Amino acid sequence: MLEAKLVAKSESNQQTIIQLGENVSVGGKNLLIIGGPCTVESAEQMEQVATTLSQGPVQMIRGGVYKPRTSPYSFQGMGVDGLKILADIRERHHVPVVTEVMSVEQLPHVVEHADMLQIGSRNMQNFELLKAVGKVNKPVMLKRGLSATIEEFVMAAEYILAHGNPNVILCERGIRSFDNYTRNVLDLGAVVALKQITHLPVIADPSHAAGKRELVADLARASIACGADGIMIECHPDPERSVSDARQALSLQDMIDLVNSLRPIAQAVGRIVPTHNSKIADLNAHALKRVIQKEVKASCI
Ligand code: PEP
Ligand code: MN
Repeated sequence: MLEAKLVAKSESNQQTIIQLGENVSVGGKNLLIIGGPCTVESAEQMEQVATTLSQGPVQMIRGGVYKPRTSPYSFQGMGVDGLKILADIRERHHVPVVTEVMSVEQLPHVVEHADMLQIGSRNMQNFELLKAVGKVNKPVMLKRGLSATIEEFVMAAEYILAHGNPNVILCERGIRSFDNYTRNVLDLGAVVALKQITHLPVIADPSHAAGKRELVADLARASIACGADGIMIECHPDPERSVSDARQALSLQDMIDLVNSLRPIAQAVGRIVPTHNSKIADLNAHALKRVIQKEVKASCI
C-alpha cells in the first residue's frame, strides 16, 4: 500500500479508538450507530429525530446542511441556519452530531457546531479540503469516493493524518458498478480489507449503497457481521417526503427495529450495540494497544 505509513496498522497501533462525544466512541467494542435524515429540513424535523432516537437507538445524529447535489437546481441545504438547528439538538438532547463540509470556506462554521466532520464521496480526493481538515481538532469521517480504489481511499485518509489530525473514521458507502438495480455496490470486501490494513475505525453506510430502503437493514446487518465498527443510516420522520434521498430513507420506527436486530449479530462477533445507559467507555475494557483522543498539535481552525 503506497506510503500509508500513518494509517497502516503497526506494532504499536493495532486499533485506534476515537472519542466522539462525552459518552460516545468508535473503534472499540461498542458499535457506533449514526442515524438521521439525508438533509436537515427544519427544526421540527430534527427535534422529532432526536427525541425518538437519541435516548438509545443511536449514539450520533446526522443531517446534511451543505448538500452535494447532482443537479444545481436541487435544494442545496440550509447552510448556517441548518448548523444552528444541529447545534441546538446537540445541546438539548446531549447527542453528538455529524454533518458534511464541502469546502474550506465552510470549515470554520462546521467546526463550530459539529462533533464530527463528514467529507463526502465527491470530495474524497479534494486534497485542499483534506489538508484543511487535517489541521482541525475534530474527528473526520471520510467517505469512500464513488469509484475510488481501496488504495486511493487509504491515501486520502493518510493526507488528513499527515496534516496533523489523527482522528479519522473511514466510511464505505458503496461504489459504482455496471448494475443500477442498487444505487451502488456496498463493498464489504473493502470493510474487511480496511480493518486488516489500517488501525482506523471503519463504518458502513448501507443507505447510499442500497438506494432502496428495503435493502438497507440486511446490508447493515451484513456490515456488522463482517467487522464494521458502526453504521450510518438515513432515516426520517416522514421518509417519503424527504427532500433528498427519499427512496432510501427509513422511518424512525424502522430505524429502531433495525438497531434492535443488530444486537444478536453484534454479540456473535464480539461487539456491543450500546444502550442509553451503557453508552460507553469500552475505552478501558479492551486490550487495544493505543487509545486516543490524541492531542492535535496543529492549529485549531
Ligand atoms: C450523505 O451522507 O448525505 C452523502 C451525500 O453521502 P455520499 O457523499 O456518500 O454520497
Ligand atoms: Mn443522502
